[in-house]
Amino acid sequence: MKILITGGAGFIGSAVIRKAIHDGHIICNIDALTYASSLDSLLSVAESNNYYFEHIDLRERKKIDQVLEKFQPDSIIHLAAESHVDRSIDDASNFITTNINGTFNLLESSRNYWESCGKPKDFRFIHISTDEVFGSLEYESDIQFEEDSNYDPNSPYASSKAAADHLVQAWNKTYGLPVIITHSSNNYGPYQFPEKLIPVVIINALNNKSIPIYGDGKNIRDWIHVDDHAEALLLLLEKGKNGDNYNIGGRTEITNLAITNQICDIVDCIKKVHEGSSAKLITFVEDRPAHDRRYAINTDKLYSHLNWSPRIAFERGLEQTVHWYFENQDWWRPLLSRSGVGDRLGKL
Ligand code: NAD
Repeated sequence: MKILITGGAGFIGSAVIRKAIHDGHIICNIDALTYASSLDSLLSVAESNNYYFEHIDLRERKKIDQVLEKFQPDSIIHLAAESHVDRSIDDASNFITTNINGTFNLLESSRNYWESCGKPKDFRFIHISTDEVFGSLEYESDIQFEEDSNYDPNSPYASSKAAADHLVQAWNKTYGLPVIITHSSNNYGPYQFPEKLIPVVIINALNNKSIPIYGDGKNIRDWIHVDDHAEALLLLLEKGKNGDNYNIGGRTEITNLAITNQICDIVDCIKKVHEGSSAKLITFVEDRPAHDRRYAINTDKLYSHLNWSPRIAFERGLEQTVHWYFENQDWWRPLLSRSGVGDRLGKL
């Protein structure tokens, strides 16, 4: 299948591309190469005859039209976004222009292209969204986000993603564009930009630097390995129902503090230092404004409709991820000098 992927130089996009190329698909990656990108994440596929890259910003509509005309994709997976909540608190403008206006541009270009191809029924526009659009869940409860949970975003990032979801849904209802919206929980794994929780903890523990934990550290997230997420997205491309929403999660609820302690234990083992050495670096810092307390996501629909569930157990995936960061310092060290990395962002 010929698939146009946006944001393929990012964390999740690069995992989707690596898997898609491995599975024999032909990929065109369009990416603006923002501070959060790394083409080095795609070195293993860059020389493939099935891989094309176009340096395009979604805010430039004409260029999207041109690339669709040239590449003639069978489907589109839309991952490009500004994705860091803390940065959205400091300045939401790129979140509005990329996540909302950029999605609007891509939808309009895709609609024109799809109509010009005779509205093929098996065309899919998969929009990758987040469980954060549903807001925060009660702390001690069994309640989970469902596919039809109400939208209740709290951060500028989450609200920009929610706005994009509404646009995508409207393009399906109004123009008939075949779309799928996915809501994923927190992703972890190799090639995640070193400003997100798990890489920050690993890298700071490795470097004997203080490990900042927001608030009391008891915020709960569900975690999914990025390779499981990539697998689910490629399956949805073939078998997902037009117009449907799907939750994608890892069935692993855990507090930020518990994850941090687990990482510290793994780092201690790798460094062959006394158990508890890295955990001493944990420092509680002022909480993020509007910090959602708990996310939990019900993924039964994916299981019952597509017989899919995540394969990578969290403990195993986390251990492999920590080892990956130790063994791939050439990938992440140059990224530490990018603007804002290592700074406390998102504090009022
Ligand atoms: P990321 O920040 O690692 O990568 C985003 C990519 O998009 C980068 O390569 C960047 O250069 C590109 N990009 C940004 N603005 C662009 C623009 N205007 N035009 C073209 N390209 C642009 O993000 P990620 O963590 O890989 O997330 C990918 C998608 O998945 C996002 O839509 C995000 O909202 C969603 N999501 C992420 C998570 C997570 O835990 N990482 C969870 C749920 C949903």
